[in-house]
Amino acid sequence: MKNVFIFLGPPGSGKGTQTSRLAEELNFPHIDTGSLLRQNIKEQTPYGIEAKKYMDKGQLVPIEIVQDIIFERLKKDDAKNGYILDGYPRSVEQAEALEVIHEKLKEYWNDNGAKVTAVYFDVPMEKLVERLVNRRSCPMCGEIYNLKNKKPLKEGFCDKCGVELVQRTDDNEETARLRFETYNKETKPLLDYYGNKNNLKTIDADKDIEEVWNNLLKVVK
Ligand SMILES: [Zn+2]
Repeated sequence: MKNVFIFLGPPGSGKGTQTSRLAEELNFPHIDTGSLLRQNIKEQTPYGIEAKKYMDKGQLVPIEIVQDIIFERLKKDDAKNGYILDGYPRSVEQAEALEVIHEKLKEYWNDNGAKVTAVYFDVPMEKLVERLVNRRSCPMCGEIYNLKNKKPLKEGFCDKCGVELVQRTDDNEETARLRFETYNKETKPLLDYYGNKNNLKTIDADKDIEEVWNNLLKVVK
Protein backbone atom coordinates (compact mmCIF):
# COMPACT_ATOMS: atom_id res chain seq x y z
CA MET A 1 0.00 0.00 0.00
CA LYS A 2 1.50 3.32 -0.99
CA ASN A 3 1.06 6.39 1.16
CA VAL A 4 -0.17 9.56 -0.43
CA PHE A 5 -0.22 12.89 1.36
CA ILE A 6 -2.19 15.96 0.48
CA PHE A 7 -1.76 19.23 2.32
CA LEU A 8 -4.57 21.65 2.90
CA GLY A 9 -4.09 25.01 4.52
CA PRO A 10 -4.45 28.68 3.74
CA PRO A 11 -1.66 30.86 2.39
CA GLY A 12 0.68 31.77 5.23
CA SER A 13 -0.05 28.58 7.21
CA GLY A 14 3.53 27.40 6.70
CA LYS A 15 2.55 24.26 4.85
CA GLY A 16 5.01 24.89 2.00
CA THR A 17 8.06 24.59 4.24
CA GLN A 18 6.72 21.51 6.00
CA THR A 19 5.73 19.80 2.75
CA SER A 20 9.24 19.99 1.31
CA ARG A 21 10.76 18.80 4.57
CA LEU A 22 8.40 15.83 4.78
CA ALA A 23 9.16 14.81 1.20
CA GLU A 24 12.83 14.66 2.14
CA GLU A 25 12.18 12.82 5.40
CA LEU A 26 10.08 10.11 3.75
CA ASN A 27 12.11 10.07 0.57
CA PHE A 28 8.95 10.64 -1.44
CA PRO A 29 8.72 12.79 -4.53
CA HIS A 30 7.08 16.15 -3.92
CA ILE A 31 4.80 16.58 -6.89
CA ASP A 32 3.68 20.09 -7.61
CA THR A 33 0.94 19.86 -10.23
CA GLY A 34 1.40 23.45 -11.40
CA SER A 35 5.04 22.85 -12.33
CA LEU A 36 4.15 19.48 -13.78
CA LEU A 37 1.72 21.11 -16.19
CA ARG A 38 4.24 23.80 -17.16
CA GLN A 39 6.89 21.14 -17.72
CA ASN A 40 4.58 19.17 -20.03
CA ILE A 41 3.91 22.31 -22.04
CA LYS A 42 7.59 23.15 -22.26
CA GLU A 43 8.54 19.64 -23.36
CA GLN A 44 5.59 19.55 -25.77
CA THR A 45 4.30 16.20 -24.60
CA PRO A 46 0.95 15.17 -26.17
CA TYR A 47 -0.79 16.30 -22.96
CA GLY A 48 1.16 19.54 -22.86
CA ILE A 49 0.18 20.35 -26.44
CA GLU A 50 -3.49 19.66 -25.65
CA ALA A 51 -3.37 21.71 -22.46
CA LYS A 52 -1.77 24.67 -24.20
CA LYS A 53 -4.64 24.88 -26.70
CA TYR A 54 -7.02 25.65 -23.84
CA MET A 55 -4.65 27.99 -22.07
CA ASP A 56 -4.05 29.99 -25.22
CA LYS A 57 -7.79 30.56 -25.43
CA GLY A 58 -7.79 31.68 -21.80
CA GLN A 59 -9.74 28.58 -20.76
CA LEU A 60 -9.17 26.18 -17.90
CA VAL A 61 -7.35 23.00 -18.79
CA PRO A 62 -9.99 20.22 -18.71
CA ILE A 63 -9.87 17.98 -15.65
CA GLU A 64 -9.24 14.88 -17.83
CA ILE A 65 -6.03 16.31 -19.26
CA VAL A 66 -4.71 17.22 -15.81
CA GLN A 67 -5.71 13.74 -14.67
CA ASP A 68 -3.68 12.16 -17.50
CA ILE A 69 -0.66 14.33 -16.75
CA ILE A 70 -0.72 13.32 -13.09
CA PHE A 71 -1.25 9.67 -13.94
CA GLU A 72 1.81 9.67 -16.23
CA ARG A 73 3.92 11.26 -13.51
CA LEU A 74 2.77 8.83 -10.82
CA LYS A 75 3.68 5.86 -13.01
CA LYS A 76 7.36 6.66 -12.52
CA ASP A 77 9.41 4.41 -10.27
CA ASP A 78 10.19 7.03 -7.65
CA ALA A 79 6.48 7.28 -6.83
CA LYS A 80 6.03 3.57 -6.27
CA ASN A 81 5.96 3.75 -2.46
CA GLY A 82 4.23 7.04 -2.08
CA TYR A 83 4.25 10.74 -2.86
CA ILE A 84 3.21 14.14 -1.69
CA LEU A 85 0.85 16.08 -3.90
CA ASP A 86 1.04 19.84 -3.91
CA GLY A 87 -1.65 22.05 -5.39
CA TYR A 88 -3.96 19.13 -6.08
CA PRO A 89 -6.77 18.38 -5.43
CA ARG A 90 -8.27 21.83 -5.04
CA SER A 91 -11.90 20.79 -5.43
CA VAL A 92 -14.09 17.78 -4.77
CA GLU A 93 -14.20 17.17 -8.51
CA GLN A 94 -10.40 16.89 -8.51
CA ALA A 95 -10.46 14.70 -5.39
CA GLU A 96 -12.74 12.32 -7.25
CA ALA A 97 -10.44 12.45 -10.28
CA LEU A 98 -7.57 11.51 -7.97
CA GLU A 99 -9.45 8.38 -6.99
CA VAL A 100 -9.81 7.47 -10.65
CA ILE A 101 -6.04 7.97 -11.05
CA HIS A 102 -5.41 5.70 -8.08
CA GLU A 103 -7.67 2.99 -9.51
CA LYS A 104 -5.73 3.14 -12.77
CA LEU A 105 -2.41 3.01 -10.91
CA LYS A 106 -3.55 0.00 -8.94
CA GLU A 107 -4.13 -1.83 -12.21
CA TYR A 108 -0.88 -0.55 -13.64
CA TRP A 109 1.26 -1.70 -10.72
CA ASN A 110 -0.99 -4.61 -9.85
CA ASP A 111 -0.64 -3.71 -6.18
CA ASN A 112 -3.12 -2.96 -3.41
CA GLY A 113 -3.48 0.72 -4.18
CA ALA A 114 -3.01 3.95 -2.31
CA LYS A 115 -3.91 5.27 1.10
CA VAL A 116 -4.61 8.98 0.94
CA THR A 117 -4.14 11.19 3.99
CA ALA A 118 -5.18 14.82 3.85
CA VAL A 119 -3.33 16.94 6.39
CA TYR A 120 -5.00 20.20 7.29
CA PHE A 121 -2.87 23.05 8.64
CA ASP A 122 -5.25 24.81 10.94
CA VAL A 123 -4.45 28.40 11.90
CA PRO A 124 -7.00 30.95 13.14
CA MET A 125 -7.69 33.60 10.52
CA GLU A 126 -6.67 36.41 12.88
CA LYS A 127 -3.22 34.87 13.24
CA LEU A 128 -2.81 34.48 9.51
CA VAL A 129 -3.76 38.07 8.87
CA GLU A 130 -1.25 39.13 11.51
CA ARG A 131 1.48 37.03 9.91
CA LEU A 132 0.83 38.50 6.50
CA VAL A 133 0.69 42.15 7.51
CA ASN A 134 3.99 41.69 9.35
CA ARG A 135 5.69 40.13 6.37
CA ARG A 136 8.55 41.97 4.69
CA SER A 137 10.75 40.81 1.88
CA CYS A 138 14.08 41.69 0.36
CA PRO A 139 13.71 43.13 -3.16
CA MET A 140 17.22 41.88 -3.96
CA CYS A 141 17.36 38.23 -2.85
CA GLY A 142 13.72 37.52 -2.06
CA GLU A 143 14.35 36.50 1.55
CA ILE A 144 11.16 36.71 3.64
CA TYR A 145 11.17 38.27 7.12
CA ASN A 146 8.50 38.75 9.70
CA LEU A 147 8.39 41.67 12.12
CA LYS A 148 6.98 39.38 14.81
CA ASN A 149 8.83 36.09 14.59
CA LYS A 150 11.62 36.42 12.04
CA LYS A 151 13.09 39.86 12.53
CA PRO A 152 16.08 41.01 10.50
CA LEU A 153 19.22 41.69 12.56
CA LYS A 154 19.08 45.34 11.64
CA GLU A 155 15.53 46.67 11.68
CA GLY A 156 14.18 47.21 8.17
CA PHE A 157 17.17 45.78 6.28
CA CYS A 158 18.07 42.40 4.73
CA ASP A 159 20.64 40.38 6.69
CA LYS A 160 22.29 39.14 3.53
CA CYS A 161 22.20 42.10 1.17
CA GLY A 162 21.77 45.05 3.51
CA VAL A 163 19.11 46.60 1.28
CA GLU A 164 15.87 48.01 2.62
CA LEU A 165 13.02 45.52 3.04
CA VAL A 166 9.70 46.08 1.33
CA GLN A 167 6.12 45.10 2.01
CA ARG A 168 4.14 43.53 -0.81
CA THR A 169 1.19 45.75 -1.68
CA ASP A 170 -1.23 42.84 -1.32
CA ASP A 171 0.03 42.00 2.19
CA ASN A 172 -2.47 44.34 3.79
CA GLU A 173 -5.27 43.40 6.08
CA GLU A 174 -8.11 43.77 3.61
CA THR A 175 -6.60 41.63 0.85
CA ALA A 176 -5.39 39.11 3.42
CA ARG A 177 -8.91 38.62 4.74
CA LEU A 178 -10.31 38.36 1.25
CA ARG A 179 -7.72 35.74 0.31
CA PHE A 180 -8.59 33.59 3.32
CA GLU A 181 -12.28 33.84 2.77
CA THR A 182 -11.86 32.66 -0.80
CA TYR A 183 -9.54 29.92 0.35
CA ASN A 184 -11.91 28.74 3.07
CA LYS A 185 -14.83 28.66 0.69
CA GLU A 186 -12.88 26.46 -1.73
CA THR A 187 -11.35 24.23 0.92
CA LYS A 188 -14.32 23.56 3.17
CA PRO A 189 -15.84 20.98 0.77
CA LEU A 190 -12.50 19.14 0.62
CA LEU A 191 -12.24 19.05 4.40
CA ASP A 192 -15.70 17.51 4.47
CA TYR A 193 -14.83 15.12 1.67
CA TYR A 194 -11.75 13.70 3.41
CA GLY A 195 -13.33 14.02 6.84
CA ASN A 196 -16.24 11.82 5.78
CA LYS A 197 -13.81 9.21 4.54
CA ASN A 198 -11.91 9.39 7.81
CA ASN A 199 -8.80 10.41 5.91
CA LEU A 200 -8.36 13.84 7.42
CA LYS A 201 -5.73 14.78 9.99
CA THR A 202 -5.81 18.25 11.47
CA ILE A 203 -2.66 19.87 12.81
CA ASP A 204 -2.60 22.94 15.00
CA ALA A 205 -0.31 25.04 12.83
CA ASP A 206 -0.43 28.03 15.14
CA LYS A 207 2.82 26.90 16.74
CA ASP A 208 6.49 27.37 16.02
CA ILE A 209 7.99 25.54 13.05
CA GLU A 210 9.61 22.71 15.04
CA GLU A 211 6.46 21.98 17.01
CA VAL A 212 4.36 21.86 13.86
CA TRP A 213 6.95 19.55 12.32
CA ASN A 214 6.78 17.15 15.28
CA ASN A 215 3.01 17.10 15.13
CA LEU A 216 3.19 16.43 11.43
CA LEU A 217 5.50 13.47 11.96
CA LYS A 218 3.04 12.04 14.46
CA VAL A 219 0.16 12.04 11.99
CA VAL A 220 2.07 10.73 8.99
CA LYS A 221 3.88 7.82 10.60
ZN1 LIG B 1 18.44 40.23 0.59
